[in-house]
Amino acid sequence: MSKASTPKTKALRCPTCRTLVLAGSEDFPFCSDRCRRIDLGKWASGDYKISTPIQDPDLLEELARSNKHNRQNDKD
Ligand SMILES: [Zn+2]
Repeated sequence: MSKASTPKTKALRCPTCRTLVLAGSEDFPFCSDRCRRIDLGKWASGDYKISTPIQDPDLLEELARSNKHNRQNDKD
């Protein structure tokens, strides 16, 4: 009779993308450094609590990529 209802490993959902993250992970409670930066960015930009939460990391990555691209063009 094993107690399957009491998992030994703690896990939380990544606040950014809701991926299950095991406690002890390098970027816990985030699933990755990317998601941590995204979350920090939300707080830094002050729109974490505004009614337009971007919860899609892929979308944010695209935004970041286009910003980078603009910057490169600007440099030239
Ligand atoms: Zn994540």
